[in-house]
Amino acid sequence: MKQDLHCHSSASDGLLSPTELVEHAHALGLERLALTDHDTLGGLAEAAAAADRLGLRFVPGAELSVRPPSGSMHLLAYLPSAAAEPLATRIQAIADYRGSRNQRIVARLNELGYAVEWEDVARRAKGRVGRPHIAAALVDAGHVGSLQEAFDRLLADGQPAYVDAGSLGPEEAVEVVAASGGAPVLAHPYTLRMGDAELERFVAGLVEHGLRGIECYRPDHDEAQRAFTKRLCAQLDIVPAGGSDWHGRPDGLVLGDAGPVPVPDDTLERLGLA
Ligand code: AMP
Ligand code: ZN
Ligand code: FE
Ligand code: FE
Repeated sequence: MKQDLHCHSSASDGLLSPTELVEHAHALGLERLALTDHDTLGGLAEAAAAADRLGLRFVPGAELSVRPPSGSMHLLAYLPSAAAEPLATRIQAIADYRGSRNQRIVARLNELGYAVEWEDVARRAKGRVGRPHIAAALVDAGHVGSLQEAFDRLLADGQPAYVDAGSLGPEEAVEVVAASGGAPVLAHPYTLRMGDAELERFVAGLVEHGLRGIECYRPDHDEAQRAFTKRLCAQLDIVPAGGSDWHGRPDGLVLGDAGPVPVPDDTLERLGLA
């Protein structure tokens, strides 16, 4: 069976609209699709309607940015509906806060003597404003030489203009998804930048809070990473999941292609969502 359990639409940072994404999935012969946009449920209703029309099994999802214990952490949520509570309310509260967060970063920069105007930052964003747009404004104003320098000297966590993102912590995020009737699954575990033993302890801890799976089948995983994550799932009795993480960009990824080993057909069943 062809399916994809991890992809993005223009509701976050993907190129295709939710409707176009579902149409593309259908044209490729996919039978099941989960849309997992970053920190929003905003594309789900549109995607569900398109999937209904085309006879494709659609699973509402999201990919939550979680306050990372190290590296970066994303948590996939597979949901019983596009309006699953309490998750929908929490996501909205975080989105509301993030608007004011960007303005606080700009105010902080101005206090530090880096003159930047909010209008100059906001006009750069097609969708959601974020630190990359602030970094670009800093470069164009001549305060720093590159986007990376803007992060390294000012915007990164621990630097003088950093303002907390208001994200959920790892355990809290897992619990909110589980309390919403969803299945929490750890995305791309290696971005946590943990060694195998540390990753094993961290995942085992999250399982206590309701974690139901981790991504094993991804285009960017090598054989050793697939083997380790699969073994970890077997050991903790959770579900080995995965997907393409397709954004519609010309980056070599293909919707429905999770790499050399496909996502098992029974993954959604095992997660309780099919
Ligand atoms: P925001 O959502 O406003 O916190 O911005 C997050 C985005 O900023 C990420 O997707 C990256 O593109 C970028 N970013 C975050 N941290 C860094 C960093 N240390 N160096 C370069 N880019 C970063
Ligand atoms: Zn993305
Ligand atoms: Fe991610
Ligand atoms: Fe993703």
